[in-house]
Amino acid sequence: MNKTEELLENLEQDYKDNIDSIKQTFKRIKKKTPKNLDYFVQEKNDEVFEVIDCLSCGACCKELGPRITDHDVQRMAKGMKMKPSKFTEQYLKMDDDDYFAFNEMPCPFLMPDNYCMVYEHRPKACREYPHTDRRKFSQLLQLTELNIKTCPAAMEVSKAIVKEFGNIPVKKIRTQK
Ligand code: SF4
Ligand code: SF4
Repeated sequence: MNKTEELLENLEQDYKDNIDSIKQTFKRIKKKTPKNLDYFVQEKNDEVFEVIDCLSCGACCKELGPRITDHDVQRMAKGMKMKPSKFTEQYLKMDDDDYFAFNEMPCPFLMPDNYCMVYEHRPKACREYPHTDRRKFSQLLQLTELNIKTCPAAMEVSKAIVKEFGNIPVKKIRTQK
C-alpha cells in the first residue's frame, strides 16, 4: 500500500480525530485571518501533493459530482467532437440547484486506473478541486470542511493549518516534516 492509499484508507478515522480542532481553527481564522494564510496554504498544498498521488486515490471522481457550467459543456462536447445537446443528453442531469452534474457516479469519464478520459477538457470544478491552491483561502473554509471528508490532500493541508494557526493539538500529522 503506498502513502496515498494509506491516507485514503485512514481518512474516516482521521476525520473523526481532527474535525473538532479543524472546525475551531477555521472559526478563529474566519474571525481574524492571518496575513500569511494564503502563502502558507499554497506552500502546504505543494508539499502535500509531492506526497499524494491523485492516480492512487480518485476519491473525488468516485464520490463527488462536480458542478458543470455551460462553458464546461461547450468545451467537453467540442473535445469529444459531439454536439453540446447530444453530450448533455448522454452524460448530464440537472441537479437540485439547477446546475448540470454528471448523470452517474463514479464519473463516467473515470477510467479503472483513475485517469480522466477527458483530462484536457475536464470541468473547471475538477481543475480547481480540492481548492487548496486558491487565493483568499479564508473564503473557502466551509468548502474545505466538507472536502476533508473525501480528499486526503485537503485533510493534510487542514491539519497543517491547525498546527500553524490553531492552539489545539493535531492528531496523526503524517506528511509534515
Ligand atoms: S471529468 Fe475527469 S476529473 Fe472530473 S470527475 Fe470525471 S474523471 Fe474526475
Ligand atoms: S484531489 Fe483529493 S480526492 Fe481527488 S484524487 Fe486527489 S487526493 Fe484524491
